[in-house]
Amino acid sequence: MRRSLPTGAAPPMARAARREAYEAMRCDVCGSGERDEELLLCDGCDRGRHIFCLRPIAARVPTGPWYCPSCAPRSKPVKRFPMTQTKIVDFFRIQKGAEDGEVEKCSIFQDVKKRRKRPLVMHKKRRRILPYVPTEDKVQRLKQMASLATAMTFSNMKFSNELTYMPGMAQRLSNQARLEQGGMQILPKEDKETIELCRTMQKRGECPPLLVVFDSREGFTVQADADIKDMTFITEYTGDVDFLEKRANDDCDSIMTLLLTEDPSKRLVICPDKRGNISRFINGINNHTLDGKKKQNIKCVRYDIDGESHVLLVACRDIACGEKLYYDYNGYEHEYPTHHFI
Ligand SMILES: [Zn+2]
Ligand SMILES: [Zn+2]
Repeated sequence: MRRSLPTGAAPPMARAARREAYEAMRCDVCGSGERDEELLLCDGCDRGRHIFCLRPIAARVPTGPWYCPSCAPRSKPVKRFPMTQTKIVDFFRIQKGAEDGEVEKCSIFQDVKKRRKRPLVMHKKRRRILPYVPTEDKVQRLKQMASLATAMTFSNMKFSNELTYMPGMAQRLSNQARLEQGGMQILPKEDKETIELCRTMQKRGECPPLLVVFDSREGFTVQADADIKDMTFITEYTGDVDFLEKRANDDCDSIMTLLLTEDPSKRLVICPDKRGNISRFINGINNHTLDGKKKQNIKCVRYDIDGESHVLLVACRDIACGEKLYYDYNGYEHEYPTHHFI
């Protein structure tokens, strides 16, 4: 458990009683008292909650005070991001039309070009990653982007659809996929093209068909705003790249493993606390329950792309419009389950 027993002042009897109370501590969510080293105690009401039962799951026990959702100080109200085209264009740094640079030429205000459907070919050995299909209705697409901008503004984040390397943190050179313990799978050429197509679409304002919604219990979560097919690329997990070592006492609840090197001092994580994209708001499932596993509809996979490690979120089954997205959080307690993929 996170909080240590008070020492010194308390008489031995009281201390023993307190210890007993600690031993009887159970998680408010799953009801289990097991794995007590991962059971957080609320500094307000003394009730417990596993870090992996939290939504989103906490990567580690926070160092500062921790309050359960019912005791957490009332956070500031969520302010809606304006549904103004120019503001959205600025926020996401959407590229203007190449011809004349007019905002109106941005494809977010035009209908998505109809793409030729891929021929139906059976891939026996390997299933290819599919590009996401942006919502055709431009007003709805604007609404999707405004929902993300709302969540990001509330969380004091800037939009970045790629990994960021900031001064004082890990340098880009340290992200070498070949250093991954046991090796890392290389993203096949066709899939790389798909990811690139999606990056280009995003730059044009053709975002994945997702809405960020606010849930008083879960906080910001992401739901599908259209039916999404199995194997569809959702987004890359982005944020500032840093050394795990330096983030050991970090309270950011969305730290993601990027590189697991043999040398612990070279391990890298993605920290989307200041910069990132929609992936920051997608919830991890509870790895420990069958129910949690049933909810999972996205796989989180690391790939070697041009020698660097990248974390991709890909649909692992058909997702219905309105369904919330959940991925398998690759916390430190689990080996990365890439062997289940492809
Ligand atoms: Zn629990
Ligand atoms: Zn509490």
